Amino acid sequence: MGEKPAFAEGFWSLGKNSHAWMVPNGSWGETNIGLIRGERESLLIDTGWDLRIMREVLDHAAPLLEGAPITQVINTHSDGDHCWGNQLFADTPIIATDAAIAAMHHHTPFECAALKCACSVLRHLPVGAPRKFASYMHTMFRPYHFAGIRLTAPTTGFSGRTAISLGAETVKIIEVGPGHSAGDCLVHLPDRKIVFAGDILFAGVTPVAWSGPIANITAALKLLLTLNATTIVPGHGPLATPAHVQAQIDYWDYVQSALAPHRRSGTLPHIAARKILESPAFRATPFASWPCPERLVTSAHIFYETPTPAPKILMRQASIAYEEARLPLLS
Ligand SMILES: [Zn+2]
Repeated sequence: MGEKPAFAEGFWSLGKNSHAWMVPNGSWGETNIGLIRGERESLLIDTGWDLRIMREVLDHAAPLLEGAPITQVINTHSDGDHCWGNQLFADTPIIATDAAIAAMHHHTPFECAALKCACSVLRHLPVGAPRKFASYMHTMFRPYHFAGIRLTAPTTGFSGRTAISLGAETVKIIEVGPGHSAGDCLVHLPDRKIVFAGDILFAGVTPVAWSGPIANITAALKLLLTLNATTIVPGHGPLATPAHVQAQIDYWDYVQSALAPHRRSGTLPHIAARKILESPAFRATPFASWPCPERLVTSAHIFYETPTPAPKILMRQASIAYEEARLPLLS
C-alpha cells in the first residue's frame, strides 16, 4: 500500500522447518502465507490475492522446498486474498471448509478487475462521495493484478474439524466460522506449537466481519488462546502474541457494546460507525491507532444483521474449546 513497512516482507522462520511469508503492514491484500516443511513433503497455507504474489512467494520458497515439494494446500477461508493463487496448485490437493468452498464463487477476479478499472476512472470525477469511494477502492486494488486468475476450488471440503498428515505429523484444521467469513478455519500444528489463524486474527490491524456473527469471531479467538501455541500467525499483520489476540477480543467487545445502543435507537449502521470512530472514548482506546479503522462500517452492518449468535455454532465452539483444553498433547 506504499506505507513505511513496520516489519520486513518475506519468509520468517518459525523454527522446525516452519515459515511464514509475512507482508507488512497487514492492510488490504497484505496477506500472510504459511509454509510447513515435513520430511519429504510440504504444506502451504493460503495462496495470496494474485498470481504474481504467489509466484514471487514460490520463487523465494524454492530453497526451502528442496526434497520436500508442496503436496497439500489449505485455504483458511474464501476471501480472494487467501485463495486466488490456487490455480498454481491445480494438481495438488487443496482443503477448505465446505462453507468456504461454497462462498468462493461469490466474488470473482473478473469483478475485482472490472471494479479496479472503473475506480481508476471514477476517482477523477468532480463529485465528492463517488470520487472518494472510487479513490478508496483504487488505493485498495492498485497493487494487485486480477487478470488471468481462474477461480480454482479446493478439492476437499470438511465441516467441524478434520486432520491431515504431514509425514508422521498431524495437522489439525478447526472450523470456527461463520465469523470473519462464511467458512473460517484455524490451522493448528500441535507438534510445532504453531497456529495459522487466517482472518479470524488481524494483529495490530482493525479486523472486519464480512459474515458474522461477531460472537463467533470472539469465540474463535478465545479458542485460539486455549491451543497453547507459541507461534501465532495472523491472516494480516506481524507474528502475534496472546496479547494481540486479547486486544482483538477487546476490540470486538468494545465495538459491540458501542454499537448496541445505536442499533436500539435505530441509528443507521454507517452513521453509528462514524459516531463511534469520531468519539473521544474510541480515540482514547489502543484500537484508534490501528490501520483501516473504516472497516467498522462493514462490521457495524454485520452486527445489525446478525444480532443473535446462532446457538448451535456457539455450543460447538464451546465444546471444541473444552476438548482442546483437555487434550494432554496440548498441556
Ligand atoms: Zn485476508
